[in-house]
Amino acid sequence: MSDPFRIEGTRALVTGANTGIGQAIAVGLAAAGAHVIAAGRRSCAETVDLVTQAGGSGEEVTFDLADPATAADALDALEPLDILVNNAGIIRRDDSVDYSEADWDDVMDVNLKAVFMLSQRFAKAAIGRKAGGRIVNIASLLSFQGGIRVPAYTASKHGVAGLTKILANEWAAKGINVNAVAPGYIATNNTEALRDDPKRSAEILGRIPAGRWGDPSDIAGAVTFLCSPAAGYVTGAVLNVDGGWLAR
Ligand code: NAP
Repeated sequence: MSDPFRIEGTRALVTGANTGIGQAIAVGLAAAGAHVIAAGRRSCAETVDLVTQAGGSGEEVTFDLADPATAADALDALEPLDILVNNAGIIRRDDSVDYSEADWDDVMDVNLKAVFMLSQRFAKAAIGRKAGGRIVNIASLLSFQGGIRVPAYTASKHGVAGLTKILANEWAAKGINVNAVAPGYIATNNTEALRDDPKRSAEILGRIPAGRWGDPSDIAGAVTFLCSPAAGYVTGAVLNVDGGWLAR
Protein backbone atom coordinates (compact mmCIF):
# COMPACT_ATOMS: atom_id res chain seq x y z
CA MET A 1 0.00 0.00 0.00
CA SER A 2 1.39 3.43 -0.89
CA ASP A 3 2.03 5.85 1.95
CA PRO A 4 -0.73 8.54 1.87
CA PHE A 5 1.68 11.07 3.38
CA ARG A 6 4.22 10.80 0.50
CA ILE A 7 4.17 13.15 -2.49
CA GLU A 8 6.68 11.52 -4.82
CA GLY A 9 6.51 12.62 -8.44
CA THR A 10 5.02 16.04 -7.69
CA ARG A 11 6.48 19.44 -8.51
CA ALA A 12 6.04 22.09 -5.84
CA LEU A 13 6.67 25.84 -6.01
CA VAL A 14 7.30 27.60 -2.69
CA THR A 15 7.50 31.41 -2.59
CA GLY A 16 9.77 33.20 -0.13
CA ALA A 17 11.81 30.03 0.15
CA ASN A 18 15.23 31.58 0.86
CA THR A 19 14.67 31.82 4.61
CA GLY A 20 12.36 31.23 7.58
CA ILE A 21 9.10 29.37 7.17
CA GLY A 22 9.39 29.12 3.37
CA GLN A 23 12.78 27.47 3.62
CA ALA A 24 11.46 24.93 6.12
CA ILE A 25 8.43 24.21 3.90
CA ALA A 26 10.70 23.64 0.90
CA VAL A 27 12.80 21.16 2.86
CA GLY A 28 9.71 19.44 4.29
CA LEU A 29 8.05 18.98 0.90
CA ALA A 30 11.29 17.67 -0.61
CA ALA A 31 11.74 15.22 2.26
CA ALA A 32 8.22 13.94 1.51
CA GLY A 33 9.22 13.30 -2.10
CA ALA A 34 8.39 16.45 -4.09
CA HIS A 35 10.71 18.17 -6.53
CA VAL A 36 10.84 21.66 -5.02
CA ILE A 37 11.21 24.93 -6.87
CA ALA A 38 12.40 27.42 -4.28
CA ALA A 39 11.35 30.92 -5.34
CA GLY A 40 12.71 34.12 -3.83
CA ARG A 41 13.48 37.69 -4.72
CA ARG A 42 17.09 36.72 -3.98
CA SER A 43 19.03 33.49 -4.19
CA CYS A 44 17.55 30.35 -2.63
CA ALA A 45 20.84 28.45 -3.04
CA GLU A 46 21.03 27.72 0.70
CA THR A 47 17.55 26.18 0.57
CA VAL A 48 18.46 24.03 -2.43
CA ASP A 49 21.53 22.82 -0.47
CA LEU A 50 19.33 21.91 2.51
CA VAL A 51 16.89 20.12 0.21
CA THR A 52 19.75 18.12 -1.30
CA GLN A 53 21.16 17.31 2.15
CA ALA A 54 17.71 15.99 3.10
CA GLY A 55 17.95 13.62 0.15
CA GLY A 56 15.47 15.59 -1.96
CA SER A 57 15.58 17.33 -5.30
CA GLY A 58 15.22 21.06 -5.86
CA GLU A 59 16.08 24.10 -7.91
CA GLU A 60 15.86 27.83 -7.39
CA VAL A 61 14.11 30.57 -9.29
CA THR A 62 14.15 34.32 -8.75
CA PHE A 63 11.06 36.45 -8.89
CA ASP A 64 9.76 39.51 -7.13
CA LEU A 65 6.21 39.40 -5.83
CA ALA A 66 6.13 43.19 -5.46
CA ASP A 67 5.04 42.99 -9.11
CA PRO A 68 2.37 40.26 -8.92
CA ALA A 69 1.48 40.24 -12.63
CA THR A 70 5.08 39.70 -13.73
CA ALA A 71 5.51 37.01 -11.08
CA ALA A 72 2.39 35.24 -12.37
CA ASP A 73 3.88 35.28 -15.88
CA ALA A 74 7.06 33.71 -14.46
CA LEU A 75 4.96 30.90 -12.97
CA ASP A 76 3.91 29.76 -16.45
CA ALA A 77 7.51 28.92 -17.33
CA LEU A 78 7.70 26.52 -14.39
CA GLU A 79 4.70 24.37 -15.32
CA PRO A 80 3.71 21.64 -14.87
CA LEU A 81 3.21 22.32 -11.16
CA ASP A 82 1.20 20.18 -8.74
CA ILE A 83 1.65 22.24 -5.58
CA LEU A 84 1.78 25.98 -4.95
CA VAL A 85 2.70 27.32 -1.52
CA ASN A 86 2.08 31.06 -1.22
CA ASN A 87 4.39 31.71 1.69
CA ALA A 88 6.16 35.03 0.98
CA GLY A 89 4.93 37.90 3.08
CA ILE A 90 6.04 41.21 4.55
CA ILE A 91 5.07 43.20 7.61
CA ARG A 92 5.39 46.97 8.14
CA ARG A 93 4.70 48.45 11.54
CA ASP A 94 3.39 51.92 12.33
CA ASP A 95 0.52 53.48 14.23
CA SER A 96 -2.61 53.21 12.08
CA VAL A 97 -3.12 56.96 12.34
CA ASP A 98 0.25 57.54 10.63
CA TYR A 99 0.34 54.50 8.33
CA SER A 100 1.58 55.45 4.86
CA GLU A 101 -0.14 54.64 1.59
CA ALA A 102 3.15 53.22 0.29
CA ASP A 103 3.38 50.73 3.17
CA TRP A 104 -0.27 49.79 2.69
CA ASP A 105 0.22 49.15 -1.04
CA ASP A 106 3.51 47.25 -0.64
CA VAL A 107 2.06 44.90 1.96
CA MET A 108 -1.16 44.32 0.04
CA ASP A 109 0.70 43.58 -3.20
CA VAL A 110 2.96 40.89 -1.74
CA ASN A 111 0.65 39.42 0.92
CA LEU A 112 -2.67 39.40 -0.94
CA LYS A 113 -2.59 40.44 -4.61
CA ALA A 114 0.32 38.13 -5.43
CA VAL A 115 -1.40 35.25 -3.62
CA PHE A 116 -4.47 35.72 -5.81
CA MET A 117 -2.61 36.17 -9.06
CA LEU A 118 -0.27 33.20 -8.58
CA SER A 119 -3.17 30.99 -7.47
CA GLN A 120 -5.22 32.05 -10.49
CA ARG A 121 -2.38 31.27 -12.89
CA PHE A 122 -1.64 27.93 -11.17
CA ALA A 123 -5.31 26.92 -11.34
CA LYS A 124 -5.67 27.95 -14.98
CA ALA A 125 -2.84 25.60 -15.94
CA ALA A 126 -4.03 22.77 -13.68
CA ILE A 127 -7.59 23.01 -14.98
CA GLY A 128 -6.26 23.10 -18.56
CA ARG A 129 -4.33 19.86 -17.94
CA LYS A 130 -7.26 18.36 -15.97
CA ALA A 131 -4.61 17.61 -13.39
CA GLY A 132 -5.88 18.90 -10.05
CA GLY A 133 -3.45 20.30 -7.53
CA ARG A 134 -2.86 21.73 -4.09
CA ILE A 135 -2.55 25.34 -2.99
CA VAL A 136 -1.48 26.20 0.55
CA ASN A 137 -1.51 29.85 1.61
CA ILE A 138 0.33 31.06 4.67
CA ALA A 139 -2.12 33.04 6.75
CA SER A 140 -1.52 34.31 10.31
CA LEU A 141 -3.05 34.69 13.75
CA LEU A 142 -3.88 38.10 12.31
CA SER A 143 -6.27 36.32 9.94
CA PHE A 144 -8.44 36.08 13.08
CA GLN A 145 -7.21 38.76 15.47
CA GLY A 146 -6.58 42.47 15.03
CA GLY A 147 -3.03 42.95 16.22
CA ILE A 148 -1.54 46.37 16.90
CA ARG A 149 0.26 48.80 14.54
CA VAL A 150 0.06 46.45 11.55
CA PRO A 151 -3.12 47.52 9.73
CA ALA A 152 -2.09 46.42 6.24
CA TYR A 153 -0.74 43.09 7.47
CA THR A 154 -3.94 42.34 9.38
CA ALA A 155 -6.14 43.31 6.45
CA SER A 156 -4.02 41.26 4.04
CA LYS A 157 -4.03 38.16 6.25
CA HIS A 158 -7.79 38.37 6.84
CA GLY A 159 -7.95 38.57 3.05
CA VAL A 160 -5.81 35.45 2.67
CA ALA A 161 -8.26 33.48 4.84
CA GLY A 162 -11.21 34.66 2.77
CA LEU A 163 -9.45 34.04 -0.52
CA THR A 164 -8.57 30.52 0.60
CA LYS A 165 -12.27 29.78 1.10
CA ILE A 166 -13.60 31.25 -2.14
CA LEU A 167 -10.92 29.59 -4.26
CA ALA A 168 -11.59 26.28 -2.47
CA ASN A 169 -15.29 26.62 -3.32
CA GLU A 170 -14.67 27.39 -6.97
CA TRP A 171 -11.96 24.83 -7.63
CA ALA A 172 -12.89 21.82 -5.47
CA ALA A 173 -14.79 20.26 -8.36
CA LYS A 174 -11.65 20.67 -10.51
CA GLY A 175 -9.58 18.65 -8.03
CA ILE A 176 -7.69 21.64 -6.69
CA ASN A 177 -7.65 21.80 -2.89
CA VAL A 178 -7.00 25.24 -1.42
CA ASN A 179 -6.11 25.53 2.25
CA ALA A 180 -4.20 27.85 4.53
CA VAL A 181 -1.94 27.38 7.50
CA ALA A 182 -2.03 30.09 10.15
CA PRO A 183 1.26 30.11 12.02
CA GLY A 184 1.43 31.34 15.58
CA TYR A 185 4.55 33.12 16.79
CA ILE A 186 7.45 31.56 14.89
CA ALA A 187 11.11 32.50 15.35
CA THR A 188 12.01 34.05 11.96
CA ASN A 189 13.04 37.46 10.55
CA ASN A 190 9.35 38.42 10.54
CA THR A 191 9.20 38.35 14.35
CA GLU A 192 12.72 39.59 15.11
CA ALA A 193 11.44 42.99 16.31
CA LEU A 194 9.02 41.31 18.73
CA ARG A 195 11.63 38.90 20.06
CA ASP A 196 14.09 41.78 20.52
CA ASP A 197 11.57 43.66 22.70
CA PRO A 198 11.88 42.01 26.15
CA LYS A 199 8.43 43.19 27.32
CA ARG A 200 6.51 42.09 24.19
CA SER A 201 8.51 38.88 23.99
CA ALA A 202 7.65 37.92 27.60
CA GLU A 203 3.97 38.82 27.09
CA ILE A 204 3.77 36.64 23.99
CA LEU A 205 5.57 33.68 25.49
CA GLY A 206 3.42 33.87 28.62
CA ARG A 207 0.27 33.43 26.49
CA ILE A 208 1.41 30.47 24.39
CA PRO A 209 0.08 27.26 25.98
CA ALA A 210 2.95 25.26 24.46
CA GLY A 211 5.36 27.54 26.36
CA ARG A 212 7.72 28.15 23.43
CA TRP A 213 8.02 30.10 20.19
CA GLY A 214 7.25 28.01 17.13
CA ASP A 215 9.97 26.69 14.86
CA PRO A 216 9.63 26.98 11.05
CA SER A 217 9.62 23.16 10.88
CA ASP A 218 6.36 23.20 12.89
CA ILE A 219 4.71 24.90 9.91
CA ALA A 220 6.39 22.66 7.34
CA GLY A 221 4.74 19.55 8.78
CA ALA A 222 1.24 20.99 8.49
CA VAL A 223 1.85 22.24 4.94
CA THR A 224 3.26 18.88 3.85
CA PHE A 225 0.20 17.11 5.23
CA LEU A 226 -2.12 19.46 3.31
CA CYS A 227 -0.21 18.68 0.09
CA SER A 228 -0.41 14.91 0.60
CA PRO A 229 -3.02 12.36 -0.52
CA ALA A 230 -3.93 12.01 3.18
CA ALA A 231 -5.53 15.47 3.01
CA GLY A 232 -7.48 14.75 -0.18
CA TYR A 233 -10.83 15.73 1.38
CA VAL A 234 -9.50 18.82 3.19
CA THR A 235 -10.23 22.06 1.36
CA GLY A 236 -11.14 25.58 2.42
CA ALA A 237 -9.56 25.04 5.84
CA VAL A 238 -7.40 27.49 7.76
CA LEU A 239 -5.30 25.32 10.05
CA ASN A 240 -3.88 27.04 13.12
CA VAL A 241 -0.38 25.92 14.02
CA ASP A 242 0.14 28.11 17.03
CA GLY A 243 1.03 26.10 20.12
CA GLY A 244 -2.54 26.62 21.32
CA TRP A 245 -2.58 30.46 21.15
CA LEU A 246 -6.05 30.78 19.61
CA ALA A 247 -7.53 28.14 21.87
CA ARG A 248 -6.67 30.19 24.93
P1 NAP B 1 10.63 36.02 6.72
O1 NAP B 1 11.76 35.25 7.30
O2 NAP B 1 10.66 37.50 6.71
O3 NAP B 1 10.34 35.45 5.26
C1 NAP B 1 9.49 36.10 4.35
C2 NAP B 1 9.83 35.62 2.97
O4 NAP B 1 9.06 36.34 2.00
C3 NAP B 1 11.29 35.87 2.64
O5 NAP B 1 11.77 34.82 1.84
C4 NAP B 1 11.20 37.15 1.85
O6 NAP B 1 12.32 37.40 1.04
C5 NAP B 1 9.98 36.85 1.04
N1 NAP B 1 9.51 38.05 0.37
C6 NAP B 1 9.20 39.24 0.91
N2 NAP B 1 8.90 40.12 -0.04
C7 NAP B 1 9.01 39.47 -1.23
C8 NAP B 1 8.87 39.84 -2.57
N3 NAP B 1 8.55 41.08 -2.92
N4 NAP B 1 9.09 38.92 -3.54
C9 NAP B 1 9.45 37.66 -3.21
N5 NAP B 1 9.63 37.25 -1.95
C10 NAP B 1 9.41 38.16 -0.97
O7 NAP B 1 9.32 35.66 7.51
P2 NAP B 1 8.57 34.29 7.81
O8 NAP B 1 8.17 34.36 9.21
O9 NAP B 1 9.34 33.12 7.32
O10 NAP B 1 7.27 34.54 6.92
C11 NAP B 1 6.75 33.60 6.00
C12 NAP B 1 5.24 33.76 5.96
O11 NAP B 1 4.71 33.39 7.22
C13 NAP B 1 4.76 35.19 5.69
O12 NAP B 1 3.63 35.17 4.86
C14 NAP B 1 4.38 35.68 7.09
O13 NAP B 1 3.42 36.69 7.04
C15 NAP B 1 3.83 34.41 7.66
N6 NAP B 1 3.74 34.37 9.12
C16 NAP B 1 4.84 34.39 9.90
C17 NAP B 1 4.69 34.33 11.27
C18 NAP B 1 5.86 34.31 12.20
O14 NAP B 1 5.64 34.29 13.43
N7 NAP B 1 7.09 34.30 11.76
C19 NAP B 1 3.44 34.27 11.85
C20 NAP B 1 2.32 34.27 11.02
C21 NAP B 1 2.49 34.31 9.66
P3 NAP B 1 13.55 38.27 1.64
O15 NAP B 1 14.32 37.34 2.52
O16 NAP B 1 14.29 38.68 0.42
O17 NAP B 1 12.96 39.43 2.39
